[in-house]
Parts: sequence; C-alpha cells; structure tokens
Amino acid sequence: MPTGQLHIDLEAVAANWQALDAMSAPSCETGGVVKANGYGLGATAVGRRLAQVGARAFFVATAEEGAALRKALGPEPRIYVFYGHMAGDTATIRDADLIPLVPSVDHLMRQLEALPRRPFGVQLDTGMSRLGLQLSEWAAIYDVVADAGPALITSHLASADEPGSDQSSRQLDRFLHMTDGVPFPRSLAATGGTLLGPAYHFDMVRPGIGLFGGLPFADATPVVALDLPVIACFDLPAGESVGYGATWTARSDTRIATVAGGYADGLFRSLQPGLEVMAGPVPCPVVGRVSMDLLTVDIGHLDADPDHVRVLDAYRRVDDLATMAGTIGYEVLTSLGARYRRTWRGMQG
Ligand SMILES: *Cc1c(COP(=O)(O)O)cnc(C)c1O
Repeated sequence: MPTGQLHIDLEAVAANWQALDAMSAPSCETGGVVKANGYGLGATAVGRRLAQVGARAFFVATAEEGAALRKALGPEPRIYVFYGHMAGDTATIRDADLIPLVPSVDHLMRQLEALPRRPFGVQLDTGMSRLGLQLSEWAAIYDVVADAGPALITSHLASADEPGSDQSSRQLDRFLHMTDGVPFPRSLAATGGTLLGPAYHFDMVRPGIGLFGGLPFADATPVVALDLPVIACFDLPAGESVGYGATWTARSDTRIATVAGGYADGLFRSLQPGLEVMAGPVPCPVVGRVSMDLLTVDIGHLDADPDHVRVLDAYRRVDDLATMAGTIGYEVLTSLGARYRRTWRGMQG
C-alpha cells in the first residue's frame, strides 16, 4: 500500500439512492448529483452504479463534467448542468447532449440563439441569491421560456439541512408563487429538501451528499473507508517533541508511527489536536501537527507496529471529521486526496 487507499462502497451509494427515492411519490423522479467528480468518489463509477439501480437524471456543475459523464453512461440518461450555458461551452453542450440549467437571462439568450430547439432548464432564485432568475426577470421573460418549452424548472434551498428553518418554507412559497400553473416539470429539493417531505418534492428531487453517506441524511449507509500506510515506526524518548512547531512532547518513552497522508490529501491541519486513527480495533492519537504529506501517530500502547491505520469507516464518518475540523462533510469528501488509490466495491457490469 504505497499511498492511502480510499474504499468506496457502491452498494451503499445504490442503497442510499433507493432509500431517498422511496421517500418521494412514484410520480417524482429521483436524480443523482455527481458534480466535483461525484463528491470526490468518482463520477463515472457512481454514475454507472446509479444508472443500474434506475437513475435516469444526473446533475453536474460544469459542461466538461457532463461530457465525461456522457461517455461513461451512454446516450440514454439526461445530464443537467448547474453552470448553465457558459460562453465557450456550446459545442460541449451540443456534442454531449447536455441540458444546461440556465441561471440568468444572458445564459437563456445564449442557449436560445446558439442551440435553438435543444433541451434546457431554468434556475429560479427563491432566496439563495446565488444563481437563478429573479421574480421580475422571470415574469418579463416567461413567455419566451414557455415557447421554448423548458425541460425542468429548478430552484435551490439555502437552509434545507436545518429542519426548523423557516427559510425553507419561505423559499417554497416563492417557488410556488413563481411556478403556479406552469406546465413544465419542477424541482426544488436536494438531499435536505428531500428529507423535508412531499411538499418540497415536485417532479424531481436532486440528492447529492445523501448518496455518499453524508448529513443531513442521518440514516444513510456509510460509503467510504480510508486506510493510510505506515511509512516508518521508531522509539521516541520522553521529553522529545514531534512535528512542526514542536506542539507535542512525549511525557514518557513511547513509539511513533509516521503515516502517509496529510493536509494535501484532505486531512485538514485543523483536525489537530484531537484526531485519532485506528490500528485494527485500537484507537491511537495523532500527535503533533498534520503536515502536507504525513501524520505522526502515538503507537506506544500497541503490541506490534501496524502496517496501516484507518482514518474513516462506518464509525468515523466524514461528518465526524468535519465537526473536528470546523467544516462540513461536503468539504471533507471533496477534499479527499487525489493521491489516494480509489477502489470501488460493488461495481457491476
Ligand atoms: C450540489 C447541489 C445539489 C445537491 O445538493 P446536496 O445537498 O449534496 O444533496 C442539488 N442542487 C443544486 C443546485 C446543487 O448545487
């Protein structure tokens, strides 16, 4: 094991998609969001597995991501692009048969001029204030959009991960107001909105993080495990310190394992102090600072030197690391290192 190994359980991804799909009515389609290389877990592998369990609609951020996914999935599934129709993306959108979700009037015009009669969707701003047509723009341009026949009308919730937030119900009201009587398919919910219940589901839900075992889908099946190889072990006498800044000093004689993985691999520096890794069933404290490529682990209480340690599994979830680092599971997942060797379990066909 020369670098960290990221084990990705595609059966768990499939089970999470099915569980989220079962929360909405049969008339509501469940898509899969696989932007940022499937939240770092491999858009191709994840997309293929989701297609096998019945997903027919996929969402990516960029047209390039869409083109790569099209190659992996073949001509059938619909692939929607959150960045819309960026200048310079026309050929990619056309050749890969992508559906841009236009986030502004400029994008709409670019789409209608460059690719008339090709499918597109529209993003509406209901309170996130990031991407999407404002109410006045939507009202002014609606007839043009309706003539062209959008494939999907979407909006996005800003606080769906907080079930008590009244921002979600305010956004729902605005979405209803903006789309009442509009005869085109509608989609408002990502993972959080899917969990908020049927009022938020409309014709399509678009979960991402929940597929990958992250909050707010608390009942998700865990998807990732991460093992890091031990590079070297050595005895450390009491009084010697470890790592940059000498932030940790051995109080008694101990033994240290230096492990292949650091902040360049998504193990944030802010995880220290307090991070623990597992040597088999035995927790071991990480000591000293996280450096770019290395962690140092106190293994003085082990009977034998481990050949690897485990950082993530069913009991140490991405959201646990996120809490320690002061961030969210999404950021931990999408930061998991490009250097890790990814292996996928449950790949079929
Ligand atoms: C990323 C994203 C999603 C998926 O969100 P999750 O919280 O990961 O489920 C859905 N819709 C839009 C517009 C997004 O940007």
